[in-house]
Amino acid sequence: MPAAFDPHRWPAGLLAALALRVGGGTVLIARSDLAVRQAAFETDARIAHRLLSQRASQHDAILATLALLQPPAAEAPEQRLPSFVGQVLQVLRRDAGTDWPGDADQRAALAAAEQQSRPLQRAVMAQVALGGERGRYALVRAATPASFALVIDARALVPAADWPFAPGGPVQVSLAQRGQVQALVAAAGPLDAAAWHFAFRKPLATDSQPFELVVQRPLRVAELPWVRIGLWWLALAAAGWGYVAWQAQRRAQRRAQELLRLGQVGRLNALGELAAGMAHELNQPLTAVSAGVQAAQRLLADDPPDLATARQAMAQAVQQSRRAADVVARLRRLVERPDVASRLQPCALQATLRGGLDLLAPEAQRLGVSVEWQADAAGLQVQADPVALEQIVHNLLNNALQALAAVPVGERRLRLGVHRDGDAAVVDIADSGPGIAAEALPRLFEPFFTTREGGLGLGLSLCESLASGMGGALSAANASPRGAVFTLRLPTAAPNA
Ligand code: ADP
Repeated sequence: MPAAFDPHRWPAGLLAALALRVGGGTVLIARSDLAVRQAAFETDARIAHRLLSQRASQHDAILATLALLQPPAAEAPEQRLPSFVGQVLQVLRRDAGTDWPGDADQRAALAAAEQQSRPLQRAVMAQVALGGERGRYALVRAATPASFALVIDARALVPAADWPFAPGGPVQVSLAQRGQVQALVAAAGPLDAAAWHFAFRKPLATDSQPFELVVQRPLRVAELPWVRIGLWWLALAAAGWGYVAWQAQRRAQRRAQELLRLGQVGRLNALGELAAGMAHELNQPLTAVSAGVQAAQRLLADDPPDLATARQAMAQAVQQSRRAADVVARLRRLVERPDVASRLQPCALQATLRGGLDLLAPEAQRLGVSVEWQADAAGLQVQADPVALEQIVHNLLNNALQALAAVPVGERRLRLGVHRDGDAAVVDIADSGPGIAAEALPRLFEPFFTTREGGLGLGLSLCESLASGMGGALSAANASPRGAVFTLRLPTAAPNA
């Protein structure tokens, strides 16, 4: 069965266009959403950078003050600092002639930093792992007579209340040195589970603590704007469905118009009325004829026969039968064939056949008919009146479908053949229906011959006279192993026509 039989098919082109829009739209929506989130993320990251830089400068200021004021060793007021500067864990001092506190490693690291600090006149970070704890670092400022150092807890640099990121959120903030994370300022969930992440990197605005601030925000697939994406998908599906429905409706409309144009609907209605009218008009003269003849029979049987009255009755019967003949002649004139010979032009045979099949597609589909093409003369052109040719094809296909309705569903096959036979083009329309009874075969093309209930018996006679009007012929036979085959022969169009 040709694909055109399915009125609700989604054409491949439409599906491809929809798929493109689904993909493109999804990317656009996700991107615009991500751009908004990224902007918010970067604003927060800049706030974090400013806060951390301020804290780092605060350490410089504390150490500079201690170096300048040189608080007396006996009172050591600097030891009270940790109680009001949250991130300062310890204040260390080295008075002239003494050593830094702590183990040998720590002493050496603090002494090295102090040495660097002296010519620079600013604080310097000591390269030491303080108690093996990540997130702590020591800042040393050389001075005379006493030098000072602060042990700082990076995790306490910014109080939770000042932090721009939501507590418990997915953002990870760390301080890195030479690409290595030195301190997690704010922890987060595992970054590697995320599909993507936003990242912000910027060195702190202080020379003494050469950290790079690294802020990372993982993005999970579930965080994409699925509601908007889903709405977009729905909108596209609705549009696609609407388009397909609209196309199906247009096809149905075109088919209905075409059927009307072929005059099938209108003609049958008109013929139905005509037949009813004719039956009515014929009834009266026929009744009169039969009454006249019966009266004459009786008069002739009398002894002696009443010849004069019998003659009169017979004359009346003749008159009434003429009236009946007039009625039939009038009908004949009404359904007189159009003059097709004057409208001949080259017509594409196979295209006409396909068009006719398309027109009856819904019916063929409803019946579950399988269609087989045997066309080895695809571009064959015939010399015909296009409207008459369409009418013949339509009637023959319609008859075939009606015949197929009489056999079980699985056995409904229609075979369409087009081939050239010398100067003629031949169309075969064969069905696997019940076939034609031997006594019906010779009468098939007679007007008003029908075996169908409600049939008018005009279709084939019309087709036959249209075919012969175009210089062709229409014939019928029984197909083997079963069914009927109708063969239409038409002259091919001259090659230069
Ligand atoms: P109608 O369809 O009104 O009967 P037609 O002239 O189209 O008039 O057909 C005349 C008769 O020919 C039908 O009643 C039917 O008996 C027979 N006939 C036509 N086509 C077929 C067919 N494909 N198979 C069997 N019989 C057919």
